[in-house]
Amino acid sequence: MVIISYLYIGIDDTDSPDGMCTTYLACHIIRRLKENSIDIVGYPRLIRLNPFARFKTRGNGGVSFKIFNDDKADLAKKIILDEVSALSMFDCDNTNPGVVFYDGEITEEMEDYAFRAIYSFITIEEAEKFAKSAGCEIHKFKKGRGIIGSVAAISMPLDDYTYELLAYRIPDNYGTKRRIDYESVIKMDKETFPDTFENVDYSENYIAIEPKTPCPVLYGIRANDDSILTKAQDIVKVSEPIEDYCIFLTNQHTDMHIQKADNISQMKQFGCYEVTATVKDKPHVIGGGHMFFKVYDETGEIECGAYEPTKDFREIVSHLRPGDVIRLFGGIGEQNTFNIEKFQAVKLNDVEYRNPICECGKRMSSAGKDKGFKCKKCGKRIKSSQKVSIKIERFLNNGQFYETPVSARRHLSKPLCRM
Ligand code: ATP
Repeated sequence: MVIISYLYIGIDDTDSPDGMCTTYLACHIIRRLKENSIDIVGYPRLIRLNPFARFKTRGNGGVSFKIFNDDKADLAKKIILDEVSALSMFDCDNTNPGVVFYDGEITEEMEDYAFRAIYSFITIEEAEKFAKSAGCEIHKFKKGRGIIGSVAAISMPLDDYTYELLAYRIPDNYGTKRRIDYESVIKMDKETFPDTFENVDYSENYIAIEPKTPCPVLYGIRANDDSILTKAQDIVKVSEPIEDYCIFLTNQHTDMHIQKADNISQMKQFGCYEVTATVKDKPHVIGGGHMFFKVYDETGEIECGAYEPTKDFREIVSHLRPGDVIRLFGGIGEQNTFNIEKFQAVKLNDVEYRNPICECGKRMSSAGKDKGFKCKKCGKRIKSSQKVSIKIERFLNNGQFYETPVSARRHLSKPLCRM
């Protein structure tokens, strides 16, 4: 009997805000392996980790892939380490690559570690200790912080997943305006959404497949199914050379970062949660266009924010009113504010209390504290201070979900079109 064993490879922290991208490096390495007759098994994986990680360059993503663990494994390791040494952005203080090799089964402990890397913070020392105990071979460059994400990228189970096709530019074009025909992107979106998604933000007139940084990525198309990606790629027209492209299997847009909290007191800073709570006060805008309101439950209260980049989402949030029960999805950031990614209106408060209407038809006004109401038109007074309840029309709908626009969405956030 032939026992197939794999060599898993994890790579992270090779890029800087000025350039490179760990997915590009992986794509380049995969090509170099192929030139040496070493094929990877399945798709490479792009695994997004804790969105609040302190040293992330952009979206906190690590990459992993696997090859057969045969007599070419040593050559593969050499090619990988040589390429990481040659291409990582070592000049940047915050670029501390880590490469991890692992040739066993992915254990439950490794899966638990991967979830810790998405839910909490891990130090380089912890990652190193864990990786060694799990039997990984680790390679640290400079501080080697990348091993934190590399072990997680290898170990993360993917019950839910999506795909991203990343097309890369030739180096001569790095940093220049990307020559993408926007009309063709809109055509692609019209013909392939919702199998592909996050292509265009129509409300913001924003082409979301195009990165805004000087990295090697020309565009990235995200999809539920790998089979639609070739069709989508054929529709998108560009007028610059594409050096290469690669399809990644990924946990993007799966809500994997969200933990279900039973109540507000269970939530901690720098964690991402789903929680159901009641709106306490009317949403209001504070400097810079950020919108805030508080929610509460029997265990406490927390301030929620819909920040300026969430644009029109703030208008939706502004329709919330005290007493609304909502299911929130988001994360607690630097300011200890719950950053809303989306919410569901669970039970909207459609009752409003108003002063009674006088017999003469005019709405009465208060006659003073505990003194009932008086009519300014006909002078009639009533002693009771009891307001009357009326049912009001709401802009929001019970049961409906509302989400931030594509332009402000986290890589891990599950869009409504996938729910
Ligand atoms: P890009 O998206 O362009 O690939 P990035 O945002 O992924 O860049 P990196 O350059 O990979 O940023 O840097 C993120 C760093 O944070 C890596 O060193 C990674 O190992 C580390 N890291 C990942 N998850 C955690 C975590 N949970 N706790 C602490 N560090 C983490």
